Amino acid sequence: MEQDSVSIPGPDWTLLSQGAEARVWKVPNYGGKVVVVAKERFSKKYRHVVLDDRLTRQRCRAEAKLLEKCAKGNLRVPKVLRVQAPILYLEYLGDEVITLRERLQVLLHTAVNHDDDDNDDTASKAASSSDAERMVLALARSLGLVLAKLNNLGIVHGDLTSSNMMVHRHAPSSMMDESELDETNDNNAVIMLIDFGLAKNSTSAEERAVDLYVLERALVSTHPKLPPQFLEKVIDVYRVKANGSEATLARLEQVRMRGRKRECFG
Ligand code: AMP
Repeated sequence: MEQDSVSIPGPDWTLLSQGAEARVWKVPNYGGKVVVVAKERFSKKYRHVVLDDRLTRQRCRAEAKLLEKCAKGNLRVPKVLRVQAPILYLEYLGDEVITLRERLQVLLHTAVNHDDDDNDDTASKAASSSDAERMVLALARSLGLVLAKLNNLGIVHGDLTSSNMMVHRHAPSSMMDESELDETNDNNAVIMLIDFGLAKNSTSAEERAVDLYVLERALVSTHPKLPPQFLEKVIDVYRVKANGSEATLARLEQVRMRGRKRECFG
């Protein structure tokens, strides 16, 4: 991992997203690579300039270390190409890769609206609808596996949403069965986690449970048509594959109860 001082975004960079903590750029022709991603953490004007500079650099380096730990642990994430704090240069996952959010939106639209268009052939509509349902559940299995791998590496993500997960635009390209979801099979890395800006090393059941709870809430609010089997499948796979899952899932029950109380009583 290289580390040196700051550079300014170049004129040919295009903005992919602007969040509360960072801007993400697409950079053409960087260090011999056709396209890379540059994640630029920006300074917070309300913080003292020296402290701000130190924090921004620390967080940039911490994110890089966690991504490298994932890569070493065989969890598919964007490769860290260079750390030039406050800019992190990452592998661009490619034009064929989209967010899980976008992929689920397409699949759920197909699964739910299969009988909306009267001109379509009924048999093919039914087939594409049930294919879409199976693909949604295959993605749930893949997600359960990815979360278990992250858990087993001793990392909590801190911001698990379907926008922080990337998949091939046609994923899963083949109908996966249970055996294909073996942890040793790399083809399973259908879902790739991104944005480790809030991630940290932790094996605490509470922090793991909060990670899962944030994911549950995000999925339900972003994808209201998601079938309940999706989350059930995620948790089923996680239960089998994640170390310490009993304690984490017991804690998840408590976190959910706290969440419900907060909803009722504010
Ligand atoms: P982020 O702020 O890290 O969640 O990224 C914002 C958006 O940029 C994501 O929703 C993706 O569409 C895209 N993106 C981020 N990282 C990558 C990457 N390594 N390769 C391709 N696209 C990315």
